[in-house]
Amino acid sequence: MTVPVPTSPPRAHPAGPPPRFEVAVVGAGAAGLAAALALARDGVETALVGRHAPVADGRTVALLDGSVRFLRVLGAWDEIAPHAAPLAELQIVDDTGSLFRPPPARFSASEIGLDAFGWNVESARLVETLRRQARTTPGLTLFEADSAGMHRADGAAALALEDGRSLEARLVVGADGGRSPLRTAASLRTREWSYPQAALTTLLAHDRPHRDISTEFHTRNGPFTLVPLPGGHRSSLVWVTAERAAKRLSDLDDAALAAAVEHQARSMLGAMRIDGPRGLVPMRGLSVANPVAERLALIGEAAHVFPPIGAQGLNLGLRDAAALRDAVFSAREANRDPGAPASLAGFARTRSMDARLRGTAVDWLNRSLLTGLLPVDALRGLGLVALGAIPPLRRFVMREGVQPRLGAPQLMR
Ligand SMILES: Cc1cc2nc3c(=O)[nH]c(=O)nc-3n(C[C@H](O)[C@H](O)[C@H](O)COP(=O)(O)OP(=O)(O)OC[C@H]3O[C@@H](n4cnc5c(N)ncnc54)[C@H](O)[C@@H]3O)c2cc1C
Repeated sequence: MTVPVPTSPPRAHPAGPPPRFEVAVVGAGAAGLAAALALARDGVETALVGRHAPVADGRTVALLDGSVRFLRVLGAWDEIAPHAAPLAELQIVDDTGSLFRPPPARFSASEIGLDAFGWNVESARLVETLRRQARTTPGLTLFEADSAGMHRADGAAALALEDGRSLEARLVVGADGGRSPLRTAASLRTREWSYPQAALTTLLAHDRPHRDISTEFHTRNGPFTLVPLPGGHRSSLVWVTAERAAKRLSDLDDAALAAAVEHQARSMLGAMRIDGPRGLVPMRGLSVANPVAERLALIGEAAHVFPPIGAQGLNLGLRDAAALRDAVFSAREANRDPGAPASLAGFARTRSMDARLRGTAVDWLNRSLLTGLLPVDALRGLGLVALGAIPPLRRFVMREGVQPRLGAPQLMR
């Protein structure tokens, strides 16, 4: 697959020929920042292209074990840790009203020898911390402008920036999010779909302590999840429900929304108060057949999008970032061009498989809630009962969900 060559070349760099880098990462979200830091810290001349575009939408991310290891290596974890809450236990409550409703299931991180399944932190804080780290990392050059397109150059790819500058790199990493302009320009085969749902996000203060337990209510319209934040009496909310209902909820004033959340949570955490910004995200899915084209590799949501179930999205994106760093390093050790198809083949294979596995599981669970078909309810219920009753199976599923060891990138081991 080749990147189409546009009719007009990029504008000349104001101060002479465009600077050339080994790798240029486009997109300064969490996945792009992590990839750029991972490459630069080990001496790869790297450019990071993208404006800082903070979003205040009350969204948090539960960072699983491998992601925390990665952030630690990148030198960012010490700054994030005081603002992250451990998820020591996960609780799933079937609230579908189905005939085959299993009892609530509890999973404890201590069963697999961990203090926590993961750590929950506000997305905006994570990005801000990585951004600060990027500003002081030697070998990492920041271009605080959006990319306007990618073109073929001699032995490299040329990037035109919206502010008129340009640069070249042997490999371009597309970390430019779910609507990735680089993915579109490269005509990578993409499958997109939508769900009749939206996710309402916000931060909550509550009377009763969460005791580091994350609770997911599986409702007929999607999962309603409360995830602990530091301090014991704050949590983040991800309420996936029917599109119209989500819009209605998001239009409520703070007191009415807090009451609705408390009702849905069966007052498990006592009285609630809205304690942060809100967001409303339509539920969609996206996958690419192959995340790689000539001199281009996609990571994060540029390559895969799915509903926020089981904290998989950014954890997958960080695995992409760490795996990409490994691919560039292998190419370097073998004196190969990092942008050549052969250098990216292994990355493409393992990342496609990981994204397909996670994406399929999340899609199945989400759709199984929506169908209302008894056999599907029975299957989902049986699955939960089996996990509760068979400890080795439970431990296997927990380990695979938190720290998939097979093919884990080096900086996550
Ligand atoms: C409600 C909700 C809850 C979630 N909870 C979790 C969770 O608990 N755990 C988890 O792992 N994941 C979670 N996710 C998923 C996670 O939020 C996303 O996977 C993650 O934020 C995507 O990061 P990214 O860097 O790939 O993309 P983005 O954050 O979208 O970043 C892309 C960046 O590219 C920039 N960009 C776009 N075009 C250009 C251009 N032309 N030039 C330069 N830059 C450009 C954008 O401005 C942006 O800064 C959740 C998602 C939702 C919706």
